[in-house]
Amino acid sequence: MEKTRDFKNIFKKLFKNIGNYLFPPQCPYCEKIIDSEQILCDECFHKIHFIHAPICYWCSVPLPIETDTGEKMLCPKCLSKRPFYDMARSAFIYDHFSRLLILKFKYYDRTDLRHVLVHYLLKAGVELFDKTDVVIPVPMYWLRRLKRQYNQSALLAELLAHKIHKEYSDSVLYRTHHTETQTHKTAKERKQNLKDAFQVRNINIIQGKHILLIDDVLTTGATAEACAKALKKNGAKAVYVLTIARAVKS
Ligand SMILES: [Zn+2]
Ligand SMILES: [Zn+2]
Repeated sequence: MEKTRDFKNIFKKLFKNIGNYLFPPQCPYCEKIIDSEQILCDECFHKIHFIHAPICYWCSVPLPIETDTGEKMLCPKCLSKRPFYDMARSAFIYDHFSRLLILKFKYYDRTDLRHVLVHYLLKAGVELFDKTDVVIPVPMYWLRRLKRQYNQSALLAELLAHKIHKEYSDSVLYRTHHTETQTHKTAKERKQNLKDAFQVRNINIIQGKHILLIDDVLTTGATAEACAKALKKNGAKAVYVLTIARAVKS
């Protein structure tokens, strides 16, 4: 048994080395050749704006450094109204660079980028994984999914669930109708646009459970809130949100 495993490992290593030689790893962003241990090239790595402390404990919006007390802090928006979700975390600030990365992943068939993106989700969501029971993606309307062929949030959620050894399900939340793009809408219009947009089925999967909801971008939080509301109404105990990027008002 031991010997077979040794042989398997030797072959695995050998094939990996040959593979690296024939198809050297490339920076997924600029396609420069990179070391096999690297995820992005140095230049692209420095363009990323990571979200780091101090942040709002609930919604993770960055807070001014001078306010850092080392304790749990909340932003003015969360202080005035508690979000329906319990905690949200994001890897990057939503800016020109992260937007392009997400666009490539969403619209240019670069599903391979999910490995890079999940790598950063694993760092950003580290506080959430111990508490998580089930990982689910923010759903796409079925017609849109048919057109796009894949739901980018589902690709991320499935890989992430596998990495953190948690249950994954994309058969819980669904969209009841097509919602217009949220991009140019005000917070109020977004809320209206999403009214009753999400429904829940197979509630046995979420009842009494802690849910980790995966999406690409958190803008005003209206989508995350609408999903959390639907999940909690159907018995989910807690809803955490993890996104690649989050918008920050400049
Ligand atoms: Zn690069
Ligand atoms: Zn907040």
